Amino acid sequence: MTRIRCNGRKRSALPSQPGLPDSRVRSQRYTDPFANVRIGPPYSAAGPYDLDMRRTIFTEDHELFRQSVRTFIEREVTPNFERWDRDGIVDRELFTSAGAAGFLAMDAPEAFGGGGVEDFRYNAIISEEFAYSGAAPAGIGITLHNDVCLPYFLSLTTHEQKQRWLPGICSGELITAIAMTEPGIGSDLASMSTSALRDGDDYVVNGAKTFITNGINADLVIVALKTDPKERHKGMSLLVIERGTPGFERGRNLEKVGLHAQDTAELFFTDARVPVANLLGGEGMGFLHLVENLPQERLSIAVGAVAAARQALRWTLEYTHERTAFGQPVAAFQNSRFVLAECATEIEIAEVFLDRCIEALNANELTVEEAAMAKWWTTELQKRVVDSCVQLHGGYGYMLEYPIARAYLDTRIQTIYGGTTEIMKEIIGRSLRP
Ligand SMILES: Cc1cc2nc3c(=O)[nH]c(=O)nc-3n(C[C@H](O)[C@H](O)[C@H](O)COP(=O)(O)OP(=O)(O)OC[C@H]3O[C@@H](n4cnc5c(N)ncnc54)[C@H](O)[C@@H]3O)c2cc1C
Repeated sequence: MTRIRCNGRKRSALPSQPGLPDSRVRSQRYTDPFANVRIGPPYSAAGPYDLDMRRTIFTEDHELFRQSVRTFIEREVTPNFERWDRDGIVDRELFTSAGAAGFLAMDAPEAFGGGGVEDFRYNAIISEEFAYSGAAPAGIGITLHNDVCLPYFLSLTTHEQKQRWLPGICSGELITAIAMTEPGIGSDLASMSTSALRDGDDYVVNGAKTFITNGINADLVIVALKTDPKERHKGMSLLVIERGTPGFERGRNLEKVGLHAQDTAELFFTDARVPVANLLGGEGMGFLHLVENLPQERLSIAVGAVAAARQALRWTLEYTHERTAFGQPVAAFQNSRFVLAECATEIEIAEVFLDRCIEALNANELTVEEAAMAKWWTTELQKRVVDSCVQLHGGYGYMLEYPIARAYLDTRIQTIYGGTTEIMKEIIGRSLRP
């Protein structure tokens, strides 16, 4: 297997749902087969349904961090989530309050306002807590900023660029995005047509990008483009294009099937003059820089996928123990138990692999192929689990007032963005040799 390492840096119930089933439910004549086991997040007080295996990757410091993130989400996210969901975008203040609380750029140097700790476990905790809170779409902008964009700003910037951009990225005053996809190309990145032609100390940029996460809120967009349009991979470079650059316009905030609180936009560049000083990494090295950084993006999506699947299972356990049919809880039917058992088993297995990948990333050992495995398998798992959970909710699973219905809408994109399942299998398949 080719061992291309990731980004080359060294690292050391939705509240509206009722809580766990109460004693009234457990005292029904049905004997609960899960009565003595627990299913719930690792930090939860031992409830009756917590089946989680103990995760060995987290220390006490991580658990304290988890508690702080959870409190932050309860105070800053949950009360605003419905409004953001309606508006199709989170307030910019979410980023500055996350920055002030220490939840942005944990791995940026302290000198620039970062946390100074290179440890992806902290990133994973933020993503997991957003999923467990039921407000996952509101967290996507932050995880994109931390997990996906920041590594480019840490590993590819000059000292001058670091001084210019990192303080704002750490404080949340500069929101980031990355723009690779164009209306005509997504998977086939080397065919992109947005161009940046050198003119004195500037590049003149022309083209369009689409489906860009944080596209409306972003102040700094890492744009993948062609500095040599005659070439494919070798012609690609990364340029940071800043809010307010003449010739840089945003299109609509796109209407999506799910992830409604997340802004996703089109970007247009018409003779936009961008200083050569905004080049990220080497000219013509853009594709290589993407290859080095995409594994962390894919692992980040995998973390969200496993956490979302776990939360879907948790909502469904609650629901099926409360809902009765034919005089017994829905959870008492053997089919329900089998479906729930299959979901619980696959989530546990996925999480073990995921934790191993997080350790590998921290040790700078995660390969492109391993990240691809994590991405496709966990997101396909999330789709299966959420679909099964909707089925166990019956008609209520189709009602948007139930979090499982929203989860169903939010899940569908997971196997598409960050590289489709098919492209992940291509990456893995090509590396397999006898
Ligand atoms: C909500 C959302 C957020 C997004 N955020 C961002 C972002 O922040 N930045 C960004 O740059 N992009 C973003 N994207 C774009 C996303 O990454 C692309 O949609 C994705 O990579 C697929 O590209 P495409 O849509 O052009 O599909 P295509 O590449 O046209 O693929 C269409 C189908 O063909 C299949 N296919 C393509 N090539 C092959 C092949 N070689 N073998 C087998 N099958 C193949 C694909 O798997 C897919 O099923 C986002 C998309 C969405 C919907």
